[in-house]
Amino acid sequence: MFMRRFATVLGAWTMLAAVAWAEPALKALIVDGQNNHAWKDTTPVLKQELEETGLFRVDVATAPAKGGDMSHFKPAFAAYNVVVMNYNGAPWSPQAQTALVDYVSGGGGMVVYHAADNSFPAWKEYNEMIGVGGWGGRNEKSGPYVRWRNGGIVLDSTPGPGGSHGPQHPFQLVIRDFQHPITNGLPDTFMHTADELYNRLRGPAKNLTVLATAFSPKEMRGTGENEPMLMTIEYGTGRVFHTTLGHSVKQCKDVAFIVTFQRGAEWAATGKVTQKVPADFPTADKPTVRP
Ligand code: ZN
Repeated sequence: MFMRRFATVLGAWTMLAAVAWAEPALKALIVDGQNNHAWKDTTPVLKQELEETGLFRVDVATAPAKGGDMSHFKPAFAAYNVVVMNYNGAPWSPQAQTALVDYVSGGGGMVVYHAADNSFPAWKEYNEMIGVGGWGGRNEKSGPYVRWRNGGIVLDSTPGPGGSHGPQHPFQLVIRDFQHPITNGLPDTFMHTADELYNRLRGPAKNLTVLATAFSPKEMRGTGENEPMLMTIEYGTGRVFHTTLGHSVKQCKDVAFIVTFQRGAEWAATGKVTQKVPADFPTADKPTVRP
């Protein structure tokens, strides 16, 4: 009797210890090294935000600087549950491109963060994975604009450049898909601190779901359209979360950014979201930014 009770207590204690000391189960890889944005500043913030969920161990793969020899840069994507793209720069080797395509199409997760959707305008599969992108000579040949009109997605093939934004200003995000694990449980509308409101993104837009939009005012050099801000893309059996938000460290510390990024990364990695919405989540009128 004593021994059985002792064994039970010991078993419970061991289980508790295992939970308390367990390494996070998921592995994330942030890819950076070239960007027209301050990647050396944003990568540590993104890393910390992933780690603070308790879900991820995070590695960083830094590509050679602009003009460097790219031929040996080939991260081991297949060793990760999610790859976070903080890269906007020179084309990768064919081997690295194939490795990323195989990884995502074979069921891997990817997060496309802000200017990562500017990268690789000529890489067909990358543009299919990110759904839409901007700049780099993108135009009607890249695919349609993605519009939200009258309660649904409209793919608009009007000729014109892909990618633009006006001066930074605070804007409201409007959830368009309440059932998706990333957005389920978030308020219908919430504010984001002053950031670039990407507009006129265009691309293949295949298997693309718009999770949230923001209205792009013409007086802020916008389009007068509801522009897609948070999206998911199915690519093969892989999952891609695309956030247009987060120009610099300041915007990366905005709670609307943090929470959607953390949830998007978990969903890309596993297909589910287990995280609770934090108490400091912004309201419809007021953004919240963490120190
Ligand atoms: Zn930017």
